[in-house]
This record gives sequence, C-alpha cells and structure tokens, in this order.
Amino acid sequence: MSSPKMKLVLVSTPIGAIGSGRGGGVELTLSSLSKGLLSMGHDVTLVVPEGSVFPDGSAGNNLQFVSGIDQPSWQHLQNDAPVVIPSDGVLPKLWEQALELGKSADALINFGYDWLPLWLTTRVQPRIFHLISMGAVSRVMSSLIEELARTSPGRLAFHSHRQASDFSLVDEPVVVGNGFDLSQYQLGLETGGPLGWAGRVAPEKGLEDAVAVAAALNDRLLVWGVIEDKSYASQIEASVPDGTIEWRGFLPTAEFQSELGKCRAFLNTPKWNEAYGNVVVEAMACGVPVVAYDRGGPGELIESGRTGWLVPSNDVQALIKATTSIAKIDRRICRRWVEDSASHHVFARKVVKWLQSDIGIDTPEVFQESKQV
Ligand code: UDP
Repeated sequence: MSSPKMKLVLVSTPIGAIGSGRGGGVELTLSSLSKGLLSMGHDVTLVVPEGSVFPDGSAGNNLQFVSGIDQPSWQHLQNDAPVVIPSDGVLPKLWEQALELGKSADALINFGYDWLPLWLTTRVQPRIFHLISMGAVSRVMSSLIEELARTSPGRLAFHSHRQASDFSLVDEPVVVGNGFDLSQYQLGLETGGPLGWAGRVAPEKGLEDAVAVAAALNDRLLVWGVIEDKSYASQIEASVPDGTIEWRGFLPTAEFQSELGKCRAFLNTPKWNEAYGNVVVEAMACGVPVVAYDRGGPGELIESGRTGWLVPSNDVQALIKATTSIAKIDRRICRRWVEDSASHHVFARKVVKWLQSDIGIDTPEVFQESKQV
C-alpha cells in the first residue's frame, strides 16, 4: 500500500545560501531529500536564503527566496555563548515565511541548527520537525534539544546514533542517516591515484592528520572544500614539504565527484563528533575506500575491512598503516554499500516514516516497524 501524499515545507539553514558551501553538508542533505520526496509524489516547498542554487531536478517548482544577513554557525562559538540573531537576520525571515506556508502544510522540516525554530516548536500550530545536523556544540542548543526530546520526541531526528549520543535523550532516538542522488556519482575503478580529503577547512575537521599521512607516504593529498580558517590552512601547509597539498577549491558536485573518483583512498580525520560525514559516503559512491577515525558518524558508515579502514581517533601512525592496506578493499563494494544504505530514495522513505509516525498517518509500513527508522 502506498503512503498518503503530504504537503511539506523544507526550511533551509540560515548560515549560507545553498551552493555556497558555507552551509556544509546540510546543503546537499536538503537538495537530496527534496529530490527524494518529489520522486515519491509529495508536494515540496523550499524556503531558502536568496542566492541559493540547486542541482538539476532537486528543487521542484516551489522555491521561496528570503533575503537577510547570514546567521553565525554555533560550531564556531563558545560552548556557553548566548543566542544571537543579527539585525536584518535571515533566520527570523525564513521562519516568518515558513510559518505562513505551514498553515496549509502537513509538516515543516527544519534543516538549521538554530535556537529559534526549536523554541517555536511547542508554541505554534504548524508541526515543526527538526533534522539535527550537529552534535552537542552549545549549552543553550543542547538544553533546548533535550527539552524537546522530553516533550515532543517525535519531532526530532538525527543522522547517526553517535551524534544522538551527544545529547541526554529519554527515548531511543529516531536516526535517519542521510541520502545521495547516486545518478550524480560515477564509480571509478582506477586504483593508482592520489589520496583525497574533503570538507570545510577548519580545525574541527582535522586536515593536519590527513596531510601528515600524505607527507609520511611521500604522496600528494588533494583537498576540496571551503577554506573557513585561512591561518589554520597556511599553518598546515607550512608543516609539510611543498607540493604535498593540492588545494582544489570548493567544486559543484559534478566536478567534485569526477576528481574524487580518481583517488585511491579518501582520508577522513575529524576532531569532533561528526554528525554524519557526507564526504565519506560521496567517496564511497565513487568507489573510493575511506580510511577514517572511528569517531562520530563515519565510525558508523564504514565497515572496516570491507569499505575502508577505521582506526583509533587521533592515531596518525594507524592511519598511515591502514592507508598502505587500501588495495585490499574492493571499490565496487563501497559503491554497493551506498546504493543499499544511503541513496536519496532510501533517505526520503526513512524521513517520511518519521514524519508519518508522529503525525499519526496510519500506513501499515509505519506501524509495523520500530520507532528507530
Ligand atoms: N563539498 C562540495 N564540494 C567540494 C567539497 C565539499 O560540494 O569541493 C560538499 C560535500 O558534498 C558535502 C559538504 O561539502 O556535502 C561537506 O559536508 P560534511 O557532512 O562532510 O561536513 P560538514 O561541513 O557538514 O561538517
């Protein structure tokens, strides 16, 4: 039996326009989910900062642009920082628009890791659901997430169990993973390429450890992503021989995946409890095995010995050793794992199940399975 079609409003992150790279993995999550929901026949409206650009076919026809000043990311504030909303900020404007649209929608899905939409949840008529995109990085945010988990647990979902474990939750969390439009990623079977690393270049991403691996192996490390912290990037570059790092910039998915797929291994070295790790799955979608720290989302995504290698956090020697064993991994298995576990179709189905189980839409597939989607 097919599930009823819903009218859904997806509300973007306020920290950067879609396509800018400033929104990190949330940008791709929003467009993948939108595409997956549209393909299931749901009615999707996106509320996004002005200047947002979407990959083909992922935004449908209902796009609402909102102008205003970007919101600062909680990730770069002190743990005890207060809530700040800039004058003429885009965050309240996104929500003004979303609440209006929400009057005739089944649900609003929030992609921003922000205080305002969480606070609104129990105080307004439209149903607001939150796809939490980071672990615990701020006291005021954690306490609001934990309060909502007590009063309205069905309104929260997380990307991984390890991310959810950062918070004190009463009930078993809803974990939906993430999803990727696999028609955008080509499987590459070449095994002799360079090493790769991708992400925002910022201290929590631990680029220095991946660079140390490349230097130890006398190899080249291709680096993709927005440089958020320029002095951090220069320090890393100065610590290794010239030519070790090849800065490739922030590329649209089509070019990013085409370069990524030529790598023989992808390194993922976070220093924080990464909520998911989009780039890990994108590498596997291109058939590139991943060597990563066994921490956060990547620790749940990689099957050590099958799709890559997991090593203890911060152990650079173990990273080096694992990287030299990368030829033991079959690139086709990496791709197959993503097809089975993290396509945008799989992701959209999990999200629909989460929404419908809270709204109380009575479909057999919702009620036969446990809360953990
Ligand atoms: N990315 C990209 N082009 C690049 C490098 C990265 O589009 O050249 C995207 C990548 O597709 C991923 C995001 O940047 O969606 C990084 O997300 P991730 O979940 O790895 O980390 P976050 O930035 O959210 O902490």
